[in-house]
Amino acid sequence: MGTGLPVTTRIAKGGTLLTPLLEINRLSKCYPGRVNALVDVSFSLAEGECLGLVGESGSGKSTLAKLILRLETPDQGEILLDGAPLHALRGRALKNARKHVQVIFQDPTASLNPRLPIWKTVIEPLENYPDVSPSFLSGIRHAKRQMAAVLLDKVGLGPDVLDRVPAQLSGGQRQRVAIARSLSLQPKLLVCDEPTSSLDVSVQAQILNLLKGLKNDFNMSYLFISHDIAAVHFMSDRIAVLKKGRLVDVFASGQLFETRRHPYTRQFTNCQPM
Ligand code: ADP
Ligand code: MG
Repeated sequence: MGTGLPVTTRIAKGGTLLTPLLEINRLSKCYPGRVNALVDVSFSLAEGECLGLVGESGSGKSTLAKLILRLETPDQGEILLDGAPLHALRGRALKNARKHVQVIFQDPTASLNPRLPIWKTVIEPLENYPDVSPSFLSGIRHAKRQMAAVLLDKVGLGPDVLDRVPAQLSGGQRQRVAIARSLSLQPKLLVCDEPTSSLDVSVQAQILNLLKGLKNDFNMSYLFISHDIAAVHFMSDRIAVLKKGRLVDVFASGQLFETRRHPYTRQFTNCQPM
């Protein structure tokens, strides 16, 4: 294969070999106009792992996120979630698989409905999946505002925001609302696509810390995408580096500063303050 990287990596954690939650095998995507956004990309993400994905603007990071979320379809390759072929599912099977994968985008303003009160936004996924009953909502699955209040509490927002609309919140609060919504179905995998890039620097660290805590509390796996190597280093167990649609380096986060890193990876650590 093109990258020479193993298709499947099993991670030893506490002496146990973990099954991959997500396996990406030889994924390629070319947009009309011959933009090779992704070329022969393979990696795996273990249960409970945070895999960071770093690369400069235009390297294909969001394309990879969109393929995993099935917002785009790959030209070639496989996306396996718990062994199920996410790239090939349709109809009810696709809807059923999709509930396990949620996303937070860069701009919470664009991803929240400006007219919907916050409480309705937060429980929207639960309305789409009436059969899903997350453990942290047990006993109140019928009580919509109460469910919203529980979810908002998980992201550090009080019941005072329930009846507001997004314009009445700060950027950081809006991103917290988007995070609360993404938690509502208790997903296995959370794809974070530049989740702090639109926020004030002072708020970025708060959101990163929140995400880190939630990952453990909710036993989720993360694909954490950013052009900011410091944020990726802070969040991730392993880091994958994308350059012009190709994976050029994958390594444990603690090995970021080793001299054997790919020259492209070293450019990131040389020019950005850690
Ligand atoms: P990143 O998220 O790393 O900035 P993207 O995945 O958004 O990168 O984009 C990768 C490449 O694909 C870029 O050259 C971009 O211009 C192109 N691209 C992204 N989306 C589309 C699209 N819908 N149509 C055509 N080209 C696209
Ligand atoms: Mg992007």
